[in-house]
Amino acid sequence: MKKAKLSYALKRNCPYCGENPLMETWFKLAEGCPKCGIKYAHDEAHYSGASQLVAFPVVSLLGLFEGALIWYFFKLDTLVVAMLSFLSMFFFLLLFWPYALAIWTWFEHFVRPVTAESEKPKQF
Ligand SMILES: [Zn+2]
Repeated sequence: MKKAKLSYALKRNCPYCGENPLMETWFKLAEGCPKCGIKYAHDEAHYSGASQLVAFPVVSLLGLFEGALIWYFFKLDTLVVAMLSFLSMFFFLLLFWPYALAIWTWFEHFVRPVTAESEKPKQF
């Protein structure tokens, strides 16, 4: 089996072949790749990993950075800065979510590649 590639995953395609879509909808991962016969999510906790280890840290850091810039350049009240940052973090999370899922899917397949036993084609 080939190694999972981040470049394929970032295009939201299968991390192994890069041909089939990784996402079923903007928010939901597809079951698996019909060509490679692999399941994208290793387990039920896949969404937790994507949200807690990829999406939330990235979005939080971006929100902190944005808040610091707004606070520094516009000298707004701290509460207004916090509210603006929170609002933009919410929308950025919606935009970033499929990429967080893709990054996490690639990472899981990179550190725990599919084994010969799980390479058997499955019906989706
Ligand atoms: Zn594939």
